[in-house]
Amino acid sequence: MTTTTAVTVRVPAKVNLQLAVGPAREDGYHDLVNVFHAVALFDEVTVTGARTRATGGAAGLTAEDASGGGLASHLARVPLDSSNLAWRAADLLARETGAQTPVHLHLRKAIPVAGGMAGGSADAAAALVACNAFWGSGLDRAALLDPAARLGSDVAFPLIGGTAVGTGRGEVLNPARCSARLHWVFALSEGGLSTPEVFAAYDRLRPDAPEPQGDPALMAALAEGDARAVGAALSNDLQPAALALRPVLAETLEAGRAAGALGAFVSGSGPTCAFLAESAEHAEHVAAAVRTAPDCAETVTAHGEVPGATVL
Ligand code: ATP
Repeated sequence: MTTTTAVTVRVPAKVNLQLAVGPAREDGYHDLVNVFHAVALFDEVTVTGARTRATGGAAGLTAEDASGGGLASHLARVPLDSSNLAWRAADLLARETGAQTPVHLHLRKAIPVAGGMAGGSADAAAALVACNAFWGSGLDRAALLDPAARLGSDVAFPLIGGTAVGTGRGEVLNPARCSARLHWVFALSEGGLSTPEVFAAYDRLRPDAPEPQGDPALMAALAEGDARAVGAALSNDLQPAALALRPVLAETLEAGRAAGALGAFVSGSGPTCAFLAESAEHAEHVAAAVRTAPDCAETVTAHGEVPGATVL
């Protein structure tokens, strides 16, 4: 019998191509229509057996910067204890499956932290896949969607990747067709924006928000592979709220538009801004222009779509 000694899972970041936000519900959440798109910016989560008397779940976590140094400062914001979403994912799966062997989790992070690209959620999805393989729990991807959704509304998408429409809190997913290779630029800010504060600002700005609706023009543009039409259809209801809290982001968006970006918008709850370029070469041109904006600390480029969490 062979024993698995380590499992590594690679997992992508996401960008929201549409984020339509409804009014605040009684439970404080908002109904969303969320078009997720997985991009080629990857974290890796490696699971090994931990030397401890504890049973099940995670017993330790370490993290390293896999961006080549550019995001080293981001690492300081990654918790190394049981508040880490990947740790919580391992604990949840152990409880669900009765796994007895505690694991150590090692994160190699290239997804910017607190940048609206769901890096923590991606790590949680990767930890579910890695622990499932390490423990031989035998759950298929569909069976992992339920624990994923319980960990957070952005955790299910990285399990499937590609492009998908999320409804509810974002956790009910329908895959969508994207036949273009899309070239993205992401402009990172030095500071973060708090997601709850951005939603609170949204509630103040849009007390009359309608129920969120999908955009047929975006879905048609994606299916046809028409990048220019995709650029014109990108939308984020949270953008005015993010700009109200951090007005300087408007200059970042303008720098990208001036460089010919097909679309320029705040990603998720920000402060990361995303730009759609015509080609990989044009993406480098847009990135160079955006780096001159006062709030832009760093840029990364990545194409989409890419598959979800993959065992290496
Ligand atoms: P979202 O788009 O889902 O709102 P985000 O991309 O803006 O998330 P994350 O990178 O997921 O932000 O990090 C948000 C916060 O979550 C961090 O500041 C950190 O304290 C915490 N966190 C918990 N687990 C992780 C993890 N594995 N990687 C990064 N941050 C994590």
